[in-house]
Amino acid sequence: MSAKTLPPLDTQQVLWFRRQLRSWSKQHFRDFPWRKTTDPYKIFIAEFLLQKTAAATAAPIYEILLDRYPTLADLSAARVEEIAEIMDPLGLFFRSQRLYDSAQQLQTQFGGQIPSSETELLQLPGVGIYTARSICTNAFGQTKAVLDTNVARIIERFFGVRGERVKSRCKILWGLAQQIAPQKETSRWNLTLLDFGAGVCTAQKPRCDECPLRKRCQSLRSN
Ligand code: SF4
Repeated sequence: MSAKTLPPLDTQQVLWFRRQLRSWSKQHFRDFPWRKTTDPYKIFIAEFLLQKTAAATAAPIYEILLDRYPTLADLSAARVEEIAEIMDPLGLFFRSQRLYDSAQQLQTQFGGQIPSSETELLQLPGVGIYTARSICTNAFGQTKAVLDTNVARIIERFFGVRGERVKSRCKILWGLAQQIAPQKETSRWNLTLLDFGAGVCTAQKPRCDECPLRKRCQSLRSN
């Protein structure tokens, strides 16, 4: 079914989906340092590092950056070359430059604070919709769903829908992600979907045999 002709999702199906994944998450929620804090600066650093990088790879760099620059003021006083040296194992030099530029802009335009508004966050270099909404949710407790290729894949497979080729720009999948997300504990929910996409409903060889969604998964039925 094409996303352009998508009917509303069945409420009972959505509730069941949530229940199954919440229950799965009790055993499988991954433990990363940025998941134990709601400090906006720390979340901001984590979300920057997690762009195009696996969480396990980003974790040591996160610790080093926060150790060296414990506050936003410290980071904005650093030279870009110092930041780049720490982030070097991740590659993508432009990300260091964007982190540096963002820190400068936060000082000059936002009074040295991480803003809690998605619109304001989107003004920062290197902050796209996914990163902005993750910061809003993980640091400020807002109820914003996120959509990356993991989340898109789970939604498409389980609900039997097909989004556009570039998932991150598919408005209908974004809408579905928001519709599926609970109003409470949205941060935990978003992270659960990431964990589930990384560990069970993987891009290659999904582990359908041990999947808690298998009873009602549209993809499994049609295959
Ligand atoms: S049954 Fe397979 S395809 Fe369906 S959600 Fe689970 S892992 Fe993904």
